[in-house]
Amino acid sequence: MSQPTRLRIAGGTVYDPANGVDGAVRDVCIEGDRIVADLPQGAPRLDARGMVVMPGGVDIHAHVAGSSVNHARRLLPEEHAADPVPAPRLEEGGPARSGTGGTLPSTFATGYRYAGLGYTTVMEAAVAPLAARHAHAELDDTPIIDAGFYVLLGNDDYLLDQLARGEGARARDYAAWLVGAARAYAIKIVNPGGIALWKGSGEVGRRNVTGLDESLGSSTVTPRKILEALAGAANALALPHPVHIHCNNLGQPGNAATTLESMKALGGQRAHFTHLQFHSYGGERGKAWQSAAREVIEYVNAHPETSVDVGQVMFGPATTVTADGPVEHLLYTSTGRKWVNVDIELESGCGIVPYAYKERAAVAALQWAVGLELFLLAKDPWRVVLSTDHPNGGTFLSYPELIRLLMDRAYRDERLKGVNHKLLAESALLDGLAREYTLGEIAIVTRAGPARLLGLTSKGHLGPGADADVTIYANDADRARMFATPRYVLKAGTLVVEEGQLRRAPAGRRLAVRPEVDAAAAKDVKRFFDRYASVSFENYGAEPVA
Ligand SMILES: [Zn+2]
Repeated sequence: MSQPTRLRIAGGTVYDPANGVDGAVRDVCIEGDRIVADLPQGAPRLDARGMVVMPGGVDIHAHVAGSSVNHARRLLPEEHAADPVPAPRLEEGGPARSGTGGTLPSTFATGYRYAGLGYTTVMEAAVAPLAARHAHAELDDTPIIDAGFYVLLGNDDYLLDQLARGEGARARDYAAWLVGAARAYAIKIVNPGGIALWKGSGEVGRRNVTGLDESLGSSTVTPRKILEALAGAANALALPHPVHIHCNNLGQPGNAATTLESMKALGGQRAHFTHLQFHSYGGERGKAWQSAAREVIEYVNAHPETSVDVGQVMFGPATTVTADGPVEHLLYTSTGRKWVNVDIELESGCGIVPYAYKERAAVAALQWAVGLELFLLAKDPWRVVLSTDHPNGGTFLSYPELIRLLMDRAYRDERLKGVNHKLLAESALLDGLAREYTLGEIAIVTRAGPARLLGLTSKGHLGPGADADVTIYANDADRARMFATPRYVLKAGTLVVEEGQLRRAPAGRRLAVRPEVDAAAAKDVKRFFDRYASVSFENYGAEPVA
């Protein structure tokens, strides 16, 4: 088929939850890069009868570009050799490039593989401001998908200094300046205060924060104050996505208490809590783990201002990549695997450890169960959306398998039999959770929900004016197979996948926001740079700073 500027996707079964369409047979019309209400008879048609039509997938949290991801790629040469990605044979447009896969595919392979899954929008979840240029360069080199990133805040010296002085308004102005300077889409907080404390505490007696009201060394700043300041900043600046929070105590037994306290600290205002699975454990620090998913999701169910993505663990290879340096140090010392630690001066940290989740390992089985419990006990799929924290809990290529686990109880129960039950005593999964997600609910947790939480009004739906990002699946009872190999994918009106084959790879667009900046605040940041930073203020940020 040649590339039409008009296309009628005819007779498919459409799932467009944002517009209240739940499995209705109807046409979807495209003109240029937009969805339109109708087209004249005689417009080119794509016969979608018997097929399932959804908006293109939207990934709210993945690690796909930038300095941390690139460090991880360099750590994993064995993955490159094991999973070469030959250049696809494209019909037209854009250079086709070879690359490598594994848990952290190279840039081109990332774009190809996301599109091949029917995903057309991806958010890179953690970029240190100092590495913003690198992240943009890699995203420029990642075809097809529209992408943006969240900029790391909450452990940087300037912010902590302002908070210590009680300069809340200046902290907000700084956040606005930084989001604009980095050309970011949202504010990300990772282990508020904990990374700064860990970096500053020297080789011996490494310290991390363990609770919301613990002060950072001699400072009066606490994790609670950081959360309040940055959540308040994102909301005061009316950013399209609220503050995106990786809580303190990731991966620790008993951390559900900290997670709930963090949610309550921001009660009444919009906030997004990411990879909730890694923050929903009961038990006590240093003692046995158990599931606390029920308690955590009950809070989320009752609080419409709170949204989450799950961060499901999938069995198989993974690579843990996070700004949470202390967590990776712990994982390194407990597993003895190879490890990278990066100190990003004045700003943040980064740690990387390759990993594998095994069915027979008690903790991995618990993590797998906790994620599924969160999904299956969630009352509002619009606020509890799908992620594996790619590649931390598993790679994005495992999403189809995850969808099958959610949609197919018999399959899920069969898999449950094969996992280690040692830590599952408190897990609601053992109660035999009967819920099976419908196709409409899958459309919510994989596209409509994330788009709404991101404030992307032209994504995640198929109403007139929306971006013409559309995925068409063969309706297959094996949901893993169905979602792994869409028959057609359109990105901004371009047919990128036809008959299951990648045919075109146009460039994607960057998603970024530019809040208004207070000139006095920018001047003060410059003073700070002149005194302490090794990078000059003028050379900082993703664009020349006005
Ligand atoms: Zn993440």
